[in-house]
Amino acid sequence: MNFDFDADTEEMRAMVLGFARRELAPAPTAAGEFDAADFRRRWRLAGRQGLVGSAVPSAYGGSGLTAVAAAAMMEALGQGCPDTGFAFSVGAHLFAGLMPIVEFGTEEQKRRWLPALCSGERIAAHAITEPEAGSDALNLRAHAERRGDGYVLSGDKCFTTNAPVADVFLIQAATAPGGGFFGLTAFVVPADTPGLRVGPRHDKTGLRGSPMADVSLQGCHVPADAVLGAEGAGASVFSASMKWERTCLFAAYLGAMRRVVDATVAYAGERRQFGSAIGGFQAVSHRIVDMTLRLEAARLLLYRAADGLARGSEDEIAPALAKIAVSEAAVRVGLDAVQLLGALGVVGGGDAEALLRDALPARIFSGTNEIQRNNVARALGLGRRPAGAAARPRRPGAAARH
Ligand SMILES: Cc1cc2nc3c(=O)[nH]c(=O)nc-3n(C[C@H](O)[C@H](O)[C@H](O)COP(=O)(O)OP(=O)(O)OC[C@H]3O[C@@H](n4cnc5c(N)ncnc54)[C@H](O)[C@@H]3O)c2cc1C
Repeated sequence: MNFDFDADTEEMRAMVLGFARRELAPAPTAAGEFDAADFRRRWRLAGRQGLVGSAVPSAYGGSGLTAVAAAAMMEALGQGCPDTGFAFSVGAHLFAGLMPIVEFGTEEQKRRWLPALCSGERIAAHAITEPEAGSDALNLRAHAERRGDGYVLSGDKCFTTNAPVADVFLIQAATAPGGGFFGLTAFVVPADTPGLRVGPRHDKTGLRGSPMADVSLQGCHVPADAVLGAEGAGASVFSASMKWERTCLFAAYLGAMRRVVDATVAYAGERRQFGSAIGGFQAVSHRIVDMTLRLEAARLLLYRAADGLARGSEDEIAPALAKIAVSEAAVRVGLDAVQLLGALGVVGGGDAEALLRDALPARIFSGTNEIQRNNVARALGLGRRPAGAAARPRRPGAAARH
């Protein structure tokens, strides 16, 4: 076991951290507002630095990072960029948009889509969730009917990250309704395809720098070569993208936690009450130790999952545990930091408050933490399963739930 990054990864981390600190602070906007032009400006800068396509092989315009190095990139981005929503959008684009094309696309699809998505010219979104299909992600109503030389997509998607700014959508639709794991198909659909409409941007509690909207599909005709993987491979495409998200994307929260823990240590050393620095009070110092403990423990789980991904492991427990640990640590670290700042924690919209707000959705997206626990329980041979089913679940059963 070696817990150190190699020299190249260390150098890349330092570069990303410096770049994010210098260039990625958003232009000031009023609460609840989103500056799409400024988002694009920062996206292009991140593209030029090789961040938004970092895990994509260099043959298709990416930086060819391994999963461990991509996690290190996301950690540095989360630490340096004060807008965790922007880092989240980069992660959703890269891990749920580009990596499925890398892993399931034909050579023609990779050459057609990936270079502009890596350079920062274009942005990707992956839409599976529907009003009636959240955790129960295989139960889609959106469907694709074979017609002529292609398919016609119809249905409603909701809560799609990057939808308001996306140029390319991965859309999941039922090609065999009721067909379970093999009933879904993923399609690569340009945003300007007639019949695809993006709704108004959602205002969120956290990750406000990441635009999200619903997407409706009405008689949206796509050619047969829009299918990613094969007809019936949509759930595999989706499961693979979730494995990337649950490891690498969540590293952005490690960086955000590090930023907040460092600032809390500094504050506890400076703020004086009762004639001494508050960090001298055991109730304060122990709380900071517990923040550090949660961050470091979650970090180990995440890099272990990333190492498995880099080695091609099929293990689904490690990414699920990493996702649970990082998101729950982030909520607790945010809460503790707000408490230790006293009134300053809730006045003025500082980093601690932002971490807490940004951490709340992390327990929901990429499959809720309850669903992750179900998946781990099932992999351990526990949990509810249909009568007569085998005690040890198969990959599709475990991966099917969002
Ligand atoms: C910030 C953010 C970004 C997102 N981005 C995207 C995106 O880009 N693309 C996309 O398609 N979707 C996206 N989503 C949607 C996300 O995937 C869903 O919100 C998630 O899968 C949960 O679905 P739901 O919200 O419908 O909750 P539900 O599935 O309705 O769950 C509600 C509650 O019930 C619990 N629950 C449900 N079933 C079970 C069960 N069997 N056992 C125990 N508990 C259960 C859940 O854990 C949860 O607490 C995003 C969501 C958020 C918050």
